[in-house]
Amino acid sequence: MSDMATEVRAPGDALTFDPDAVRAAFPILDQEMNGRPMVFLDSGASTQKPEAVIAAEAEFYRHDYANIHRGVYDLSQRASDAFDGGRRKVQAFLGAADWREIVFTRNTTEAINLVAWSFLEPRLQPSDEILVTTMEHHSNIVPWQLVAMRHGAKVVAVPITDAGELNLAALREMIGPRTKMLACTWVSNVLGTVNPVAEIVGIAHAAGVPVLLDAAQAVQHVAVDVQEVGADFLAFSAHKIYGPSGVGVLYGKREHLEAMPPWQGGGGIVDRVTFEGTTYGEIPFRFEAGTPDIAGVHGLGTALDWFGQFDIRAVEAHEIRLMAEAQRALQQIPGLHALGDPRHRTGALSFWVDGLHHQDVGAMLDLDGIAIRTGHHCAQPLHRRFGLEGSARASFGIYNNEADVAALADSLRYIVRKYG
Ligand code: PMP
Repeated sequence: MSDMATEVRAPGDALTFDPDAVRAAFPILDQEMNGRPMVFLDSGASTQKPEAVIAAEAEFYRHDYANIHRGVYDLSQRASDAFDGGRRKVQAFLGAADWREIVFTRNTTEAINLVAWSFLEPRLQPSDEILVTTMEHHSNIVPWQLVAMRHGAKVVAVPITDAGELNLAALREMIGPRTKMLACTWVSNVLGTVNPVAEIVGIAHAAGVPVLLDAAQAVQHVAVDVQEVGADFLAFSAHKIYGPSGVGVLYGKREHLEAMPPWQGGGGIVDRVTFEGTTYGEIPFRFEAGTPDIAGVHGLGTALDWFGQFDIRAVEAHEIRLMAEAQRALQQIPGLHALGDPRHRTGALSFWVDGLHHQDVGAMLDLDGIAIRTGHHCAQPLHRRFGLEGSARASFGIYNNEADVAALADSLRYIVRKYG
């Protein structure tokens, strides 16, 4: 076992988290990029997949694939069981009270659009407000703007501090009788800020405002329990938690989902169809028109099983330690500035360098085999808040290690010395 291993013992179990063993589970990481061992620091955009997930999808297509739910034959039954099993695994992972509260979508973006159109749009009146925050991803801004536009309602952003934390006092002041929804990210994809979501939900509920939490950057880094935080809705994407791309999840409280109309028409969502009118089926199927990504849902279930073998507290401790180390090393590079300095940070560390365009920084790191992301990271308002057009972002996953951090810091030191 490596000397970096973190051992966390929870009551009744003895889980060991060994970063070297974890890394070995990801075949893609064992390659060179531009003649150097690849250092993958772009998990915030999408995570890599462990062999278990790759193999499960391949096996599913080899042996168990058929369309689901409407077949009476054995193969369709097996495929349906795998798909339904995926839903139960998501339910358990999120701590949801009922499997019917789990709706499959294409991604986080589609899950948020579903809530915007099916839950919020029918309730909106002119001059209503939808509160978001300055640190939101465009996916948690634009869908609300689209529905707001229809009704003369407004999307209003709760400000953040210079440290990159949500201004809770401002939230308390801004929330009021006109507020119809609060949509807030759990973890910022740029700053890495972990928002105090239970407190935020408490503030909103005290004002009678329902809350959607964007958990796209949370599920893979921190413990998520929808009942504990009390969210009305929560969205995430399988591809951010070591699962396949093409599958997203919307959690919605049962009483909300049951009161919501379908938002896309098609097969699978109906009870009875006639040309005079159609009646709709039960939740969650009412929101899942058409053939879903069957193998993808099975892949997500496998990813959650794989991820679930680790104690989330050990994963979190490992990632926080790496990020703190990266922050320490980067801070010592003259002319390099980190965006924000939140007290609770995970997943992402964004920065800019005096005199260098972030895209050039990314391109030069690539020459050293280091993959980071540059640009606005779909968070233009956040960058504007810091007076920037974009930044460079290093983001971390379960498979990153201290060698990755050292390679990033070495390469940045060289770039800044030579070109900064
Ligand atoms: N919200 C946040 C915080 C994100 O980081 C992302 C992905 N970068 C999204 C939403 C959108 O996720 P997807 O593209 O999978 O819909």
